[in-house]
Order: sequence, then structure tokens, then C-alpha cells
Amino acid sequence: MSHSGDPFIKPQLREFGETIFAEMSALAAATGAINLGQGFPDTDGPSEISELAISAIRNGHNQYPPGLGIQELRQAISAHQKRFYDLDFDFETEVLVTAGATEGIAASLLAICESGDEIITFEPYYDSYAASIALSGATRRVVTLRTPNYSFDPDELRNAVNVNTKAILVNSPHNPTGKVFDMEELSLISEICQEHDLIAICDEVYEHLVFEGSHTPLISFPGMRDRTIQISSAGKTFSFTGWKIGWVCAQPALINTVRTAKQFLTYVNGAPFQHAIASALELPDTYFSDFLVDMTKKRNCLTTGLKEAGFNVFSPAGTFFVTADIRPFGISDGRQFCLDLPDACGVVAVPNVVFYDNKEEGEHLVRFAFCKRLEVLESAVSRLTTLGDAK
Ligand code: PMP
Ligand code: GLN
Repeated sequence: MSHSGDPFIKPQLREFGETIFAEMSALAAATGAINLGQGFPDTDGPSEISELAISAIRNGHNQYPPGLGIQELRQAISAHQKRFYDLDFDFETEVLVTAGATEGIAASLLAICESGDEIITFEPYYDSYAASIALSGATRRVVTLRTPNYSFDPDELRNAVNVNTKAILVNSPHNPTGKVFDMEELSLISEICQEHDLIAICDEVYEHLVFEGSHTPLISFPGMRDRTIQISSAGKTFSFTGWKIGWVCAQPALINTVRTAKQFLTYVNGAPFQHAIASALELPDTYFSDFLVDMTKKRNCLTTGLKEAGFNVFSPAGTFFVTADIRPFGISDGRQFCLDLPDACGVVAVPNVVFYDNKEEGEHLVRFAFCKRLEVLESAVSRLTTLGDAK
């Protein structure tokens, strides 16, 4: 759904309508179908962490927190970076708390881009990238990740760079494909950034959801520390997507740059939740490993189920999404497939085509989220299995 007929909206925003996630969640609500569309868990994160948010409200943490975020949270973010990646960030100058990763990405782009600048990103891309690039006045240039393993052509990336290129926006682990960029790919991106003096904006919200291989932040590559804006959030890692606590780690000048835009977007956010997430980040390693074990079971359940139902499945190495090709059902229009799916079998998915500029690359692909209880996934799988019967 786009706003092409809206008389008030400015040209840069005309191509954007209601997000596909809102549209598909509304479809699930209207039809009563199982919602494997929008990526949010159907169980909340650790109850001791919710209790801390409640206590923070009771203890009067209800006014504007400091602009950078509360000190306890910035210290916890810095300690998390040290614990998991051996990265050192000064919590006083190199960490900024944001309203989710979404704001971190938007503020980064708004702060660094001028009209005429170009931002390179990989398609399929998370929907907010296109909108934030447009809001910033820049233009997006995409490099396509291609099935079956969603690799990209190094020359396509090299050729995408020109004198107007300002930054490369990288999302790994990658939504919607589940790809985890490997060391060779990250090295190439790092090389190109340094050769052309580009900034890397790294969206790492699925950093703790890696089933195969491992997540290496681009900022840890030689020469990248001072030119990378590393962004993450508590939503996925702690199953509190509605709290919208995110963060940015970067060298002081980049943090100042991002903060300049951020302070006029939300100024600050989520005071009581900041207190709770500071403690969540300090949970023992077992929290993170148990979370991964649980999500691995869910991934296996849905990927196996989708294969048995007849889809051609691209098994995800990370995130909580799995992409499937619908052509084995004799259909190639993923959008129509998703609109029909609730009636056909009572399940909602998301058409990947909305994440592509080159529509032909993704029109036959659909995304299912597996951040749901196992019994919900099993029930979705048994419904999807009936699809083949209708052929
Ligand atoms: N980036 C990616 C790749 C996402 O999938 C999401 C969805 N959570 C976000 C950013 C937004 O994160 P947040 O909810 O923390 O704003
Ligand atoms: N990141 C979530 C997804 O990809 C959606 C978040 C949103 O609706 N903005 O499903």
C-alpha cells in the first residue's frame, strides 16, 4: 500500500505506505490466522527483568533520562561489547542509547547524509532503511543478495561505489534472509569502506541469534573502529520488542554526530526500561546460550515443517526468520500468496518482494517468523502441510 495518491506527502515519502508488518499483522487479527508475519515473540522476556522495569517505575525513574542514556545502561552496553566481542567502548563518550535500533539507524542517516549522497545497502533490505535513507535526502543503491546462499557479487559492490557514496549500511545477521555475513564478505566491505573513505552503519539487532557460524562485528576489523556506527537493541535478544531500547557504539565524534540528530527525534526514551535492560545485559552467559538453544529448536521445527509442506526453504544461519520459495506450489506471486494464505490455511507470512528494488529477485519468496511457541509453530506447520492438498 503506497501513498502515491496522498496530496500532502512529500515526494521522497510517496513510495512508502503502511509497513508490510503492520499490514500483515492486521490481516492476521482480522482473519484469526497464526501470525508468522511480523517478527515479535509471543512470550515475554525474563520475568525478573520485567519486574525491574516495574520497580523502576515505582522507584520514581519516570522523568527524562540523560540525553546519552542512563549511566548504568551505558556501562552495561560497554561491558556487553567487552564480554562478547572484546571491544572497548568508553561509556562516557562512545555509547548512545536510542529508541530502538530503528532510531539509531534513522539518526545516523539523518546526521550524516546530504541531498545527493548515496547509501549502499544489500537487498532484500529491512523496510526502515529505504524510508530513513529517503528522509535523510540521500538515495539508496542496492547490491543484491542472491539465493541459494544469499552471497553477493564482489564486483557489484565495487561498482556500486561512486563519488557520492557516503556509507554502506550492513545488516548481519540479516533480516529477512537469515544470512550471517562471513569473514571474507566482511573483509571486502571493510576494504571498500577504507579505500573510498566510507562510513559503515551496522545493524546487528540479531547478534545473539546465530545458529551456524558466528557473528563478528564489522567494527572489530582493522581500520574500521573509527568509521563504523555499530547499532543494536534489546528487543530481539531479551524478547521485549515493545520497550524500544536500542543503542549505538562508535568513536566519540560519530556518537556526537548521531546524537545531534537523535536529540531532536525523541530526545530520550524509556527511562524505566533503561534500568531493566541495564540488568538484562548483565545476565549470565547461560541466558544467551539457553535463548539460542530454544530458538534453534524453533528454527528446526519451522524449517523442517516448511520443507515437508513442499516449500523450497533457505535454511537461516541467523535471526528468527526463514525465507521460502513458493514456486513448488505452481505460484510465483508472493504478495498474492501471502494475501491468500489466511484463507487457504490460516497462517500469515510476509512477501519478501517488498524488501527488493529489483522486484524479480524476490517476488516468489515469502518470510515466516519462528519467534513463537513451539506448539504454535507445530500448529502452523500442520496447517501449511494442507497447502499441497489443494494443488
Ligand atoms: N533492524 C532489523 C534488521 C530489524 O529486523 C528490526 C526489527 N526489530 C529493527 C532493526 C528494529 O529494531 P528496534 O525494534 O530495536 O527498533
Ligand atoms: N523487525 C520486525 C520484522 O522484521 C518488525 C518490526 C516492525 O514492525 N517495525 O518483522
